[in-house]
This record gives sequence, C-alpha cells and structure tokens, in this order.
Amino acid sequence: MAKLQLKKVAKIYEDGYKAVKNIDLDIEDKEFIVLVGPSGCGKSTTLRMIAGLEGISEGEMYIGDTLVNNIPPKERDIAMVFQSYALYPHMTVRDNIAFALRMAGVNKQERYKRVDEVASVLQLSELLDKKPGALSGGQRQRVALGRAMVRNPKIFLLDEPLSNLDAKLRVTMRSEIVSLHRKLQTTFVYVTHDQTEAMTMGTRIAVMSVGNVEQFDTPANLYFNPANVFVAEFIGSPQMNMLEGRLVKEASDVFFTTTDKKIHLSQELVDRIHVDFQGQEVLLGIRPENIHYQATAEDENTVTVLAKNVEQIGSDTFVYFDLESAKRECAARFNPPRMVPIETEIHISLDLTRALLFDKESQQTILTACSVEGVL
Ligand code: ADP
Repeated sequence: MAKLQLKKVAKIYEDGYKAVKNIDLDIEDKEFIVLVGPSGCGKSTTLRMIAGLEGISEGEMYIGDTLVNNIPPKERDIAMVFQSYALYPHMTVRDNIAFALRMAGVNKQERYKRVDEVASVLQLSELLDKKPGALSGGQRQRVALGRAMVRNPKIFLLDEPLSNLDAKLRVTMRSEIVSLHRKLQTTFVYVTHDQTEAMTMGTRIAVMSVGNVEQFDTPANLYFNPANVFVAEFIGSPQMNMLEGRLVKEASDVFFTTTDKKIHLSQELVDRIHVDFQGQEVLLGIRPENIHYQATAEDENTVTVLAKNVEQIGSDTFVYFDLESAKRECAARFNPPRMVPIETEIHISLDLTRALLFDKESQQTILTACSVEGVL
C-alpha cells in the first residue's frame, strides 16, 4: 500500500517525440485511479514509467517517500496486469499464479497456501488444475489478476485489461475488479480509452490528451464541471453539444447569441461566470439529456429542428439534428422515450441550468464549479 506521486514527469522517446509532457499526479494510498484518453495520448507510456519498464526522461516519481526514478521494476513492489494476459499455456492455473513466488524462492508449501488464498478471493479454486486453454476469457483475466495479487504488491497497474473480452463480460469484470480493489485496499492505476469504463471504475480519473493531463478529478466533477472543451467532449455519450456564439449584456439581462437564436441565460448561470464579458466569443456546452421535447414552440428557449436520425434504445430516444451554430451534429436524449419519425420537424427546449461556457480561444471554462452534491 502506498501513495504515488509524479512531479513534472516527461517521456521523450529516442526519436525525440515527447509522449508525456511534464505531468503532475498526486495519487493517495488506496485510490482507484484511471488514466483515460484517446489512443496515442500517453496512457500506456505513463503506466510503464510507473512500473519501471520505461525510463523517466524528466521529473521525479515517488512511491511512498522513495524517489524511484532509478529503481528497477523488480524492486518497486508493483504488479502489472496486461491486456494480453500473458499466461503460460503449458502451466496449470495454480503454477501460473505461483510463478512469481517460485522465482522469488518462496517454498512450495507457502506458495500453495498463498495461491489458495488468492484463488478463493477470485473464485478460481475449482480451476487450479486446469490449463489456460481450458478457461473462458473472463477466467483467464482472473488468473492474470491472481498472478498480480499473489505478490501482495503496493500498487496494481492495469493496462486495458478488459479490451479482449466481449461487451457483456466486460461489464461483469468491471464490477469484479472494483470489488477486488475494495477487498485488497491497495492503490490501483488503471488505463483505458473507454470513458464509460473510466467513469464507472475510478475514484478519480486523469483525462489525458497528447501527453498532457487535462483534468484530474472525480467522475462527477468531470461530468458536471469539466475544466475545458476537451474534457467536456470526451466524457459523456453521445457527446456534449457545443454551440458557438457570443455573450451579450442588455441592461440586467445576459444573452447567448448565435446565428440560430438569442438565448436568455438564467441569473444562476450568469452569477457563475468568472470573467468580464461583453461580446466575448464563447462555446456553450449542453448535454443531450438537457434538451427536452416540446409539443409547441411557444417557450422562450425553444428551437425547431429537423430530426435527421432517431435511435430508439428502449429506455431513451436519441434524436440527431443540425444547428447552424453547432460545431457538429447535435444530439438530444428524450427520457421517457417517445416516437419521433425521421425527417420530421420537432420543437426542443434547451435547459441551460446545467449548461457550460468556455472561452472560444483558450477553450477553458469561464464558470466557477457548481456543487456536485446540489446536482446529484
Ligand atoms: P496510449 O497508451 O495512450 O495509446 P502510448 O503511451 O502507447 O499511448 O503512446 C503515446 C505516443 O508515444 C504515441 O504517439 C506513440 O506512437 C508514441 N510511442 C510509444 N512508444 C514509442 C516508442 N518506443 N518510440 C517512439 N514513440 C513511441
């Protein structure tokens, strides 16, 4: 068990490419941290630097109070679970799990005792004499976790461990890994490109893009108080809608004006704007669930749009449409679901109480954070 600190850590590969750009991460003991971001943003490189499999080019890394920059992987007391489970096919489950202990010179009786403990936690006791080839994908994944667990590491590192499993099994294994973390009370650092996986597993999540950490926060804060446009668009599915426009003051009222519409902003939202503005170019972010179906177009913030595409998923209806001011196609999520024929005009209202505002140039939020407790 240990805390883990990265201070201005960078990775410059031999070809000169800076894959990780001086990132700071302060991870407390027993946290479940997820590194998430699109492919190529530096997640695996960061994880491999923590494991010691990749050298640190700049900055400092601490495990507990120890500077580990020059400490080899074996001495870091860390266990890593890879995407390809890397099990030995000719060995039984028992010998696979016991392998690291055998290498460390632990005697057979002690090895088997530890394997039995681990197997019982992971519900593998019945499978100990089988070979990996006879196991399902989920069972193999549990053996890979068992191999890491048996060493009682201070920190668990997991690199996309579920990406080889089918969708249903991924969901089951997700909660198995979360409950394993609860049982083991150890620090976990988990890498995925899947924002749903990140949001459902992490106590805190570092959202990365091209070598930077854009925001390191709780799932609720990433969703309701994203620091910038990148995080706002990365978290949530379908993506947050982004409208381009200007903030305009008229007497005591503030409007968001676009080519499509002049939208009156509530005082509650205006009070949270922490920059001076008059005519400032901004992006207004609104999540699909904050766009509501209206029978008529009478309400103040109602817009009439053409339903280009409609998805009925049972619990919700997703409707896709264009707005001239939007960066890309917009989405609305109607709950309860409703019948919306494709290519018909519908009226929608924008509920701006949870809208987000970003400076167009810097792409950073211009709102003070709202209280997540007040929202959930
Ligand atoms: P992620 O895990 O987020 O998909 P990686 O950490 O694997 O991203 O890679 C980050 C970037 O570093 C990518 O652009 C990748 O091409 C580059 N990269 C990874 N390994 C090497 C290497 N050995 N040499 C040069 N560039 C590399």
